[in-house]
Amino acid sequence: MVSRVIPVDPFDLVVFGGTGDLARRKIIPALFRRYCSGQVVEGTQVIAAARTDLDTEGYRNVAAASIREFSAGRACEDGTLERFLQMLAYVKLDATGEEGWSALADLIRQDRTRAFYLSVGPSLFAPIAARIRSHGLVNAGTRIVVEKPFGHDLESAKALNATLAEHFHETQIYRIDHYLGKETVQNLMAVRFGNVLFEPLWNAQFVDHIQITVAETVGVGLRGEYYDRAGAMRDMMQNHLMQLLCLIAMEPPARFEPDAVRDEKLKVIRALDAVEPHHIVRGQYDATSDSPGYREAVGHPRSTTESYIALKTHVSNWRWSGTPFYLRTGKRLVARSSVINVVFKDAPHSIFGADAGGAANILSIRLQPNEGITMHVTIKEPGQGGMRLIDVPLDMSFAEALGPEGQDPPDAYERLIMDVIRGNQTLFMRGDEVEAAWAWTDPIIRGWQARGEVPKPYEALSKGPIDADQLMRRDKREWRGIKP
Ligand code: NAP
Repeated sequence: MVSRVIPVDPFDLVVFGGTGDLARRKIIPALFRRYCSGQVVEGTQVIAAARTDLDTEGYRNVAAASIREFSAGRACEDGTLERFLQMLAYVKLDATGEEGWSALADLIRQDRTRAFYLSVGPSLFAPIAARIRSHGLVNAGTRIVVEKPFGHDLESAKALNATLAEHFHETQIYRIDHYLGKETVQNLMAVRFGNVLFEPLWNAQFVDHIQITVAETVGVGLRGEYYDRAGAMRDMMQNHLMQLLCLIAMEPPARFEPDAVRDEKLKVIRALDAVEPHHIVRGQYDATSDSPGYREAVGHPRSTTESYIALKTHVSNWRWSGTPFYLRTGKRLVARSSVINVVFKDAPHSIFGADAGGAANILSIRLQPNEGITMHVTIKEPGQGGMRLIDVPLDMSFAEALGPEGQDPPDAYERLIMDVIRGNQTLFMRGDEVEAAWAWTDPIIRGWQARGEVPKPYEALSKGPIDADQLMRRDKREWRGIKP
């Protein structure tokens, strides 16, 4: 099954922070892969901008090395890399001063979509936005792309939104949450709203509870300083898990259009209950013989920042009244696994008797790795005599079901950057969504700070703190295992 690639018209993309980690690991390789696929066409111009003393030739060498490292294994015709590199230019530029801005303005052409990707720390958003404006680079075809974190709390998020709004209309602002670019995340909407099977059951009457797990095996790595100021709540829960929850819980929008979808997501965030203190579990990973524990990794021996959080919340609306949503995310867990489990209620009456066995239906949506969907259904255990029931998975791995396309779906950044160029904001967060998410998050964080709570230690490469199991068991429920 081969999907049709629709080329986009040539565009200009300026990558501020073109020498940084994100640009080298994700943005440039994503553009290269879209070039290989035929979606990015000749005539496109990608201008990297940063302070490092490089010229265009030097930057092309940097880009070539990044592509070789991070796009390895992609089939591309001979000579494609060389042709792609010809589309790249470099401008030495200081975001906080005037150096380089005229040179940048001279390179940008009038007759096409232009996008500015702010792949820099958030403190540079305001000076860059102001200079894009003051150098006359904003026109109707201008788009600006910003990366998380979108603020540290509601106040800073409002300030950031206000800064961007001074220079750009909301329809020009693309806030990237790369989780929304993942194939399966979009499939969530296709599964829910493209099939009649699920939607009639997608409510409190039939769903017992929903579990969302985003587990990582890695620790904080080189991001220790940033991470210790953020923690799992701000770094993951407030954005990625919140977005997944929205897609699971939202009402069907009338049309698959940016504001129709985002309006429905916003309603979900606004309907979220405040979280009770005893419905929150925070943890910090321990050291192993060959890797540091959390506090050592962030260089802060008394840190009270969490590397793990689990919580229970409710969406207080007609559809979900009384259905708990359990969310957990953490670092140094037993496997890298992002999965949503929709756990349905037991059959109202067993005609086979209480001892026959069987289990509730569960729809598992795997976001990574091995993207796919599993429906757990009850069948008769094979054998003679009696009627014993067992739970079997009906498994669809996209890699198997969709052939080569499923095995190698475009990276989230490939899809999201192309959406920026096409002007489709459906998979990007709107300013009011971000603010609503902080309005829910802030009191939770303020609460544990006021109570002086310290995260519980948990064993590295385990499933997280034991207390998180208790969070479920108190409700007579269990987390599904974290599996690779
Ligand atoms: P990084 O590796 O520290 O790169 C920062 C970039 O900004 C560098 O290219 C740096 O280049 C440039 N820069 C710094 N000060 C500048 C100035 N005054 N003028 C012009 N350029 C300047 O950071 P990153 O990891 O790529 O992250 C970039 C943004 O994406 C951050 O907001 C981060 O939170 C976000 N993000 C990153 C990831 C990721 O996987 N890395 C994931 C999600 C979100 P010079 O030193 O050459 O100037």
